Amino acid sequence: MMEVKQESEYVKHHIQKIVGFFASMREFAGQLQSKGHHVYYLKINDKDNKQTFDKNLGAIIKEFSVQEFEYQLPDEYRLDRQLRKYCDALRIDYQIYDTEHFYTHRDELKEVFKARAQYRMEHFYRVMRRKHDILMNGDKPEGGEWNYDELNRQSYDDKIKVPALPDVKNDVSGVLHDIQDAQLPNFGFIDAERFTWPVNRTQSRKLLRHFITHCLPHFGTYQDAMDSRHDILFHSRLSFALNTKQLSPQEVIEAAINEWKKRKEEIGLPQVEGFIRQILGWREYMRGVYWAHMPEYGSLNFFSHTTKLPEFFWTSETRMNCMHHAIKQSLYTAYAHHIQRLMITGNFALLAGIHPDEVDAWYLGIYIDAVQWVEITNTRGMSQYADGGIVGSKPYVSSAQYINKMSNYCEDCYYNKSVKTGDRACPFNSLYWHFYERNRELLQKNPRIGMMYRVLDKLKDREKILEQAELYLKNIEDL
Ligand SMILES: Cc1cc2nc3c(=O)[nH]c(=O)nc-3n(C[C@H](O)[C@H](O)[C@H](O)COP(=O)(O)OP(=O)(O)OC[C@H]3O[C@@H](n4cnc5c(N)ncnc54)[C@H](O)[C@@H]3O)c2cc1C
Ligand code: SF4
Repeated sequence: MMEVKQESEYVKHHIQKIVGFFASMREFAGQLQSKGHHVYYLKINDKDNKQTFDKNLGAIIKEFSVQEFEYQLPDEYRLDRQLRKYCDALRIDYQIYDTEHFYTHRDELKEVFKARAQYRMEHFYRVMRRKHDILMNGDKPEGGEWNYDELNRQSYDDKIKVPALPDVKNDVSGVLHDIQDAQLPNFGFIDAERFTWPVNRTQSRKLLRHFITHCLPHFGTYQDAMDSRHDILFHSRLSFALNTKQLSPQEVIEAAINEWKKRKEEIGLPQVEGFIRQILGWREYMRGVYWAHMPEYGSLNFFSHTTKLPEFFWTSETRMNCMHHAIKQSLYTAYAHHIQRLMITGNFALLAGIHPDEVDAWYLGIYIDAVQWVEITNTRGMSQYADGGIVGSKPYVSSAQYINKMSNYCEDCYYNKSVKTGDRACPFNSLYWHFYERNRELLQKNPRIGMMYRVLDKLKDREKILEQAELYLKNIEDL
């Protein structure tokens, strides 16, 4: 096992992300050793560490006169190519094994959709539900419906108390010291004596149990809600444990279903179905899109966006309260839930026309769960529509109206959520219409969007709104 600069420097990572990965690797190595396995472990600041996989592998194969090299398929395209190339040049035998940490194999999505140009998640999800017999009643979906999203769109109303974080605390000062010693670039904050992310299976299972006991009964209901007093609400924070393979998606889904079966009065079907759709549906679907479209996916830029990412993405210093909260929380915790990523930071980046490369680098760096296969498909695909509609059927953009409906951010904002022009007009309002106007040619024919253009063309202050947006775009750093 090796901690290498190659992996820590290809993008600037949040300090909690680097610490989380290394701490989990060290724990795992320790567990293997305690069971009698021999583990050769290179720490980031070890003198023998040559800091790339190729160089370290070469040295290990030579030192131990290795006769056969075996590896498990990695999840990232970049590593996949590197290892294949490495093996092509190897003079010893090698074997490759598939990972068991997904429901699907890499090419399954392509097989499900065959020659279709567009892949819709909902179709894929239904195929998965049937194939794995999850929430099914014979050939019919449990409860008669495949999807209960309509019921899952409430803002947070204080009616249900948000549970405290589960008791997971790690002292990761040693790992932090080694990272600092190796001078790895990083950003963000960390409390190294009280690190709250799970670094082993026991802690990951504790997180899972906490979620299904306290949060699952309300997961679907408040899935889209945002609240400045509660960073996590009823979300699971399981993505890091899942993506680092401390938990398998199968055991997470099984635990949720078993809990639902035991407490059907308390945990409605929409709650458990909403949760399962994220893992069996979105997570597997994104992985399939990734393997179907890499490496081209990494350079798609449907709207030809060119703007630089504003500095406030790294500092949270902006008067837009929604952006300030979502970014500050991310800098402190390396976490934001899905709607904060999609409808606050992602929404702003798309409305402002930020280059998808810059948006990708930010998301890949800042979140503890960010691994390219799931980051890029969510960022470039779902959030930035840079793939022109492979993942989503239309861009996810909104004005202050949606943000105000789903959060309390607008209450304390410098900007006025209800106005589109003038000094304190909410930037989301004018940028929203500017986005549609400047992308008219690309979007007008989309049947799901056409109506927006009829509204735009009838807007009373259309010209003034577009001028306001231009002003904001020109002064984007001062928002
Ligand atoms: C712009 C953007 C970037 C994102 N980057 C990442 C990323 O780098 N890594 C990552 O794991 N997720 C990413 N997501 C998806 C999603 O936001 C996170 O999985 C989720 O917020 C993690 O928090 P949670 O574990 O509390 O999730 P919950 O809301 O509790 O959901 C449960 C689980 O479902 C899965 N899931 C939910 N939504 C998605 C989705 N859209 N795609 C794939 N899996 C999903 C995750 O494994 C998650 O742990 C991104 C979303 C957006 C909009
Ligand atoms: S008024 Fe606008 S900028 Fe302020 S919090 Fe609401 S949506 Fe965000």
